Amino acid sequence: MKIFEEIESEVRSYARSFPRIFNRAKDEHVYDEEGNVYLDFLAGAGSLNYGHNNELFKKELLKYIEDDGITQGLDLHTRAKGEFLESFNEYILKPRDLDYIVMFTGPTGTNAVEAALKTARKYTGRENVISFTNGWHGQTLGSLAITGNGHHRGGAGVSLSGATRMPYDGYLGDEVDTTNYLDKVLSDSSSGVDKPAAVIVETVQGEGGINACSMTWLKSLSDVCKKHDVLLIIDDIQAGCGRTGTFFSFEEAGIYPDIVTVSKSLSGYGLPFAILLMKPELDQWKPGEHNGTFRGNNPAFITAKAAIDNYWKDDKFAKEVQAKGDYIAQRVDKIVEKYGEGNFNSHGRGMFRGINCVSGDIAGKITHNAFTKGLIIETSGTEDHVVKFLCPLTITQENLEKGINILEESIKEVCAKAGDIPEEKDYFEGDYSVSDEVDKMARP
Ligand SMILES: *Cc1c(COP(=O)(O)O)cnc(C)c1O
Repeated sequence: MKIFEEIESEVRSYARSFPRIFNRAKDEHVYDEEGNVYLDFLAGAGSLNYGHNNELFKKELLKYIEDDGITQGLDLHTRAKGEFLESFNEYILKPRDLDYIVMFTGPTGTNAVEAALKTARKYTGRENVISFTNGWHGQTLGSLAITGNGHHRGGAGVSLSGATRMPYDGYLGDEVDTTNYLDKVLSDSSSGVDKPAAVIVETVQGEGGINACSMTWLKSLSDVCKKHDVLLIIDDIQAGCGRTGTFFSFEEAGIYPDIVTVSKSLSGYGLPFAILLMKPELDQWKPGEHNGTFRGNNPAFITAKAAIDNYWKDDKFAKEVQAKGDYIAQRVDKIVEKYGEGNFNSHGRGMFRGINCVSGDIAGKITHNAFTKGLIIETSGTEDHVVKFLCPLTITQENLEKGINILEESIKEVCAKAGDIPEEKDYFEGDYSVSDEVDKMARP
């Protein structure tokens, strides 16, 4: 199809890595127009934790549409919204002893992050917000200011302010607890770091290269925040909704963050939906002060409720995710041991895993090779050097094994070829250009 090149903006990105025309998807499979089938280990960048068109939610959604349920509701009280809140409160918040107010923001993750920043600044009257190296929080100006990635920050076109960066867990090596540094600069009025309104953190940095912080570090971060009277915001947009093996990714640390952002897999169906959770005393908003047209995506409320009711009423699903996560970790460790030669290493938590190939060039060749074998898998990190596992949590064990087998085969082939692949065949350059070979594949 020529239309994409003709009028679609150069800003497209994923489409360049997977240059096919896709027209159908079910559970962990995606199909292209020519009838090829792919295993989806990208899963809407973590927005399809329950797979594509999950049958359990589709039924509810179709019924809701058939009955002419409200689709666009602004922030009106609707039955769908009320029932979502009831399920969320009953099966997610209460069993975890989390006393939160739910704020419906615009339907993208970045809007929930903007709302979190505003909430923290409003409550404390302070401007500065601390975020971490390699952190990734979205693409609007406030969330870009706290994002690490220079490529994306560069797109802003205005100066990004109100943020200070601190080293994430492990950034200075395994021996350094970087929360000590944070504690130190917050204790010293001459450190040059203005007392912040909040600290915002991902427990596993998704776009930043699958860096998982330890639960000890997270607990310590929470303590440092409390000590200095600074709010703790957990950006659980990618790591939440079960990805790490529990509904919220911070549960294991036993902390009670002041603010939590949730989006991506919240609707369960890939429908846009984002919320902000905050401790009751932080809810100092005036009516409509953070407004937006699409804060009432009612079909998303229907599928979000179905996701909670079907998967989160007990810990059966969480246990399954943990078991699959352990399996991925084992396989990945073996792969790294076999082909690593001190270069590759693995990290992550639950079903949020990555293989650090050190070089973006190698990682790109691996994911490209995997795609030709029917596996959709992406890279992340500063140099796109980490091969990132984001398969649906509901994937069958058989397909999980199949996907990892394909990946292993791809790694084996790329390693075997390493050294004799000429420069011009570098698949992923800084500007994400597509090689001739990928091009030919798309349009035979
Ligand atoms: C994806 C993501 C966002 C931004 O969400 P969008 O819906 O793309 O705006 C923010 N934070 C984290 C951790 C994310 O993974």
